[in-house]
Amino acid sequence: MCGIIGLVAKTPVNQMLYDGLLILQHRGQDAAGIVTMDGPRLHMHKGSGLVRDVFRTRNMRSLQGTTGIGHVRYPTAGSASSLAEAQPFYVNSPFGIVLAHNGNLTNADQLKQEMYLQDLRHINTNSDSEVLLNVFAHELQKQTRGDRVDADAVFSAVAAVHKRIRGAYAVVSMIAGHGLVAFRDPNGIRPLVLGKAETPQGTEYMLASESVTLDSLGFQPVRDVAPGEAVYITQDGQFFNRQCAENTAHTPCIFEFVYFARSDSVIDGISVHASRLYMGEFLADKIRQTMPNLDIDVVIPIPDTSRASALQLANHLGLPYREGFMKNRYIGRTFIMPGQAVRKKSVRQKLSPIAVEFKGKNVLLVDDSIVRGTTSREIVQMVREAGALKVYFASAAPPVRFPNVYGIDMPTRNELLATGRDAAAIAREIGADAVVYQDLEALEAAVHRCNFDIKTFETSCFSGKYITGDIDEAYLAKIESERNDAAKADKERDLDFNIGVAEQNLI
Ligand code: AMP
Repeated sequence: MCGIIGLVAKTPVNQMLYDGLLILQHRGQDAAGIVTMDGPRLHMHKGSGLVRDVFRTRNMRSLQGTTGIGHVRYPTAGSASSLAEAQPFYVNSPFGIVLAHNGNLTNADQLKQEMYLQDLRHINTNSDSEVLLNVFAHELQKQTRGDRVDADAVFSAVAAVHKRIRGAYAVVSMIAGHGLVAFRDPNGIRPLVLGKAETPQGTEYMLASESVTLDSLGFQPVRDVAPGEAVYITQDGQFFNRQCAENTAHTPCIFEFVYFARSDSVIDGISVHASRLYMGEFLADKIRQTMPNLDIDVVIPIPDTSRASALQLANHLGLPYREGFMKNRYIGRTFIMPGQAVRKKSVRQKLSPIAVEFKGKNVLLVDDSIVRGTTSREIVQMVREAGALKVYFASAAPPVRFPNVYGIDMPTRNELLATGRDAAAIAREIGADAVVYQDLEALEAAVHRCNFDIKTFETSCFSGKYITGDIDEAYLAKIESERNDAAKADKERDLDFNIGVAEQNLI
């Protein structure tokens, strides 16, 4: 998963882009980048790490201009920490184009071949986003004559891009000397919201992965970019939009609501927070119906994402809700860490139980989801060490059983705890007395209830149904073998890490 932002303003955009990326930091901590446009010139700075580490004052000074785009990167398996894959990407022809992408193309390999053999374009990284940029550049070149670019040419190019690429994509791009282009895949899998601000100098526009970026930077939300729609805003602020895809559906990724997005965002008219409250309510119903005899003393969330669900679940069961964990906010999300050993260690560094909340009690822990089970296993053990009697574990999402191919890093099927296991076996694996999962229909109902216009969701990691229709067993086997290779590299990194720690201990 990644975060993207685009701005066409009346005053320099560098600070606003930086602030916007900080707000989107939860969507990716691996790398960050900004490109600004100053007349015909593009200025780029990108690097590995958190936003605050990538940009120094001197970098910020060089990012001149009133139009710009930014990206925070979340690594997909296999390519963590590759600086070459930090975004935005740049291509010099035609005009000079930069592009930042959230999502994943499912036909990137085939496109890469086409690029090389037919379009005579070189792709220099393993990133599908570089492929996407080159497809767009190629199609734009076909649509333009001389150095003129107009909205028609841009929209025809996006329409051709939709025809060639498959998968999930929310994109912001700039054409040097011309303007900013943004578009969203025909299924609306990844989010993209449009906002504007009226200033004495005129109207400013922002596009971003999440609405909280608009709110925090003083922009009014206008609407979500529609699936398949493209927006083109010239440097001087003329706004154009057009539906560029022939067949569209609206199936937002349900995992945004489960885990990824910030609770204070509204995606496709759905308050992320409200959907999490319903998830808690529906999970309470399930517990009441299927496990009426659980002797729970207290409901405790595993911070942060699950708080809303846990609170509502406790309310609906008439049970006390207590905060039982302290979180060290200076440590990154554990999932982002390379390798299992590092990940395991960092769960304990990041979360610690407040013993008095657990001692002598039967607790129901609530988390948003269980993926590999590393976090839950460690937490159950910590809670037992803190003196809990019985430990029940509730997941606000259904069992994760399938890889995600639309931009969320999900491990291979054999690494997913729920593969081939029922709730009782999962409880044994994580050391809990019982585990309860949300049903998929209930999860969909929880999100749907926040906007009745959205009727279907992208739910593949729970259901195994891939809505782009191009994912077969061979595709899954291929990405899994790539991820296994990446896992091997992770293990080697773990070894280095452990040796490093051992050496430090010797000093
Ligand atoms: P685990 O079961 O140890 O793999 O970790 C699951 C926890 O990691 C969940 O409770 C979420 O808070 C978080 N999580 C779930 N999916 C992801 C993901 N794709 N990327 C990062 N964190 C995730």
